Amino acid sequence: MPVAIRVPVANSLLASLPRKDYERLLTGIEPVTLTFGEIIYEPGQPIRHVYFPNDALVSLLTLADGHLALEVGMVGHEGMVGTPVPLGINVSAVRALVQGSGTAMRMTSARFRKEFRDCPPLQRALYRYIHVLMAQVTQTAACNRFHVVEARLARWLLMTRDRVRANKFRLTHEFLAHMLGVRRVGVTRAASALQLRKLIRYSRGEISILDGKGLEAAACRCYQVVKDVQRRAS
Ligand SMILES: [Zn+2]
Repeated sequence: MPVAIRVPVANSLLASLPRKDYERLLTGIEPVTLTFGEIIYEPGQPIRHVYFPNDALVSLLTLADGHLALEVGMVGHEGMVGTPVPLGINVSAVRALVQGSGTAMRMTSARFRKEFRDCPPLQRALYRYIHVLMAQVTQTAACNRFHVVEARLARWLLMTRDRVRANKFRLTHEFLAHMLGVRRVGVTRAASALQLRKLIRYSRGEISILDGKGLEAAACRCYQVVKDVQRRAS
């Protein structure tokens, strides 16, 4: 449960829109607090709201055999939860689980569809974002199959840092094991290795990134690959 230890900042996707569009959208938006462990969507269920996280962090999980969940995507201030809606789909394919408590702004799917239809800057921002999210999801599939736990953990911590915009967050080994799809002992071993290299400090459920550059070097290339896709798309 990475809880950002910092002051909340507005969602960057919304903030990137022209001011008049941003202000109009705000009239249809309701601020909400998302709490760790809250499930926003389940696979096959209707999407009633889309969410723009401020400092909340949401995991997209895919289920196998109905109960085994694996993280395939992560959404923070850079994006939106509910990307099927702009594609004309109103049912979620994934479970969306709050993994970092914080605030978000939400809009009903009906209002969002109307805004999306009438607002080309919002369309462009969402197309770019969905492209980057697709890159993240597809890269994560390869990452889970080919890369060792230590490098994946380093990548996951960097992705979390970028989304909560903080070098310190709370989480447990058990939670990480679920997110990375490995046994808890594997996470403990990988976290100890990163700590021994003085890249992170882990104590009482709080992780601090001590050396961001070093952690980037310890992460698999997947971290940079997705960042490059994001840079080229913006
Ligand atoms: Zn990887």
